[in-house]
Amino acid sequence: MATLDRTHDAARQSWVASANGHADFPLQNLPLGVFSPPRGGPRGGIAIGDMILDVPACRRHGLLAGASEAAADAMAGGTLNALLALGAPARTALRHAVFDLLAGNAPAAIQALAPDILHRAADCAMHLPAAIGDYTDFYAGIQHALNVGHLMRPDGAALMPNYKYLPVGYHGRASSVRPSGLPVRRPNGQRKRATEDAPSFGPSRNLDYELEMGVWVGPGTALGEPVPIGDASARISGFCLLNDWSARDIQGWEYQPLGPFLAKNFHTTVSPWIVTPEALAPFRIAQTPRPAGDPAPLAHLFDATDQAEGALDVQLEALLLTRAMRESNTPPHRLSIGNARHLYWTVAQMLAHHTSNGCDLRPGDLFGTGTISAPEDTGWGSLLEISRAGKQPVALPSGESRTFLEDGDEIILRGRCTRAGTAPVGFGECRGTIVAAHTN
Ligand code: CA
Repeated sequence: MATLDRTHDAARQSWVASANGHADFPLQNLPLGVFSPPRGGPRGGIAIGDMILDVPACRRHGLLAGASEAAADAMAGGTLNALLALGAPARTALRHAVFDLLAGNAPAAIQALAPDILHRAADCAMHLPAAIGDYTDFYAGIQHALNVGHLMRPDGAALMPNYKYLPVGYHGRASSVRPSGLPVRRPNGQRKRATEDAPSFGPSRNLDYELEMGVWVGPGTALGEPVPIGDASARISGFCLLNDWSARDIQGWEYQPLGPFLAKNFHTTVSPWIVTPEALAPFRIAQTPRPAGDPAPLAHLFDATDQAEGALDVQLEALLLTRAMRESNTPPHRLSIGNARHLYWTVAQMLAHHTSNGCDLRPGDLFGTGTISAPEDTGWGSLLEISRAGKQPVALPSGESRTFLEDGDEIILRGRCTRAGTAPVGFGECRGTIVAAHTN
């Protein structure tokens, strides 16, 4: 687990003025990403306030030598897979070096290089931070699993018997993961209402979002070699926000017996910045104790340290902005506010489970945690839950209402960490706007 050091000192400020008091990217965060400046190709960068630090440019100026050199060199290209492969020592060395570069007491000679090493984030394009080899989506948000179970099986058990023994997951589709801000085309697919005898093909009528956290894997693991639970967190290089767009009507028809397929793989949106385990170190918390009567995790999924500090205190928010709201300058409407602490399984347990059969993971693989819903209905992480499967429309300040998403609707996910005496850090936004389905 990452430990606290001088880079977590809330009193430290940056000479990059917009970083001081920034909601997401103060000096204490320093998340990793891939960006293109207005005139230039993709390269590795670090978010600082409203700016992006150009890591290869810093390297050219000789600002990142010594222990941080290997990490800086691994950020020269269009993906961060090589950096993720290096793991915590190189990543931490880079964090410390960049902290000193950007801290308020940095030498004037470094600050004078600002025009060369900093770009206004608003002028840059963000890319996926890694070439994603494999994407796995878990189902570790127990309140979401309970809510969906109650909706789908009102007379049966909400949870399947396996739920409290293993982190349920499925292999998702890596090719359709995109960074925040790109439009999301409504999928066509087979839909069948309960009253219909046969399905028809057409645009999804029940398009939904799922509020999740993403987990970036690195370093990789070897085929045939399980990662012990006590070593699992060292294989995780960072976190992001993830929207697992879901076509509920397509899902309801296709999912049995093998699980989600075309209802999920048309598009997944991630926030483009990798927030590191080091940045989140002040916000690690104990895993919420299991309710009395729940089984203890089997030995290969239990680690005392992981239970003591393996959960994350991240406030998670989903907002909706319809086309009419956008045109009338109405601010986005908050659909929910919850917290990642409500996950039933830690991310280390997810990684240990994923490799427990010998399945190998590669740097840049992506996990979704599963939809994170709070126990209270103000913190439910999908419209399926909020609208009770379409039976209770959500009233919006524009006078409109929604059960599921309409064309022109934008979903905005936000994640923020706050703790007394600590500089708050955030994830940046994870946005996507629905556009009309392809017409055949
Ligand atoms: Ca999901």
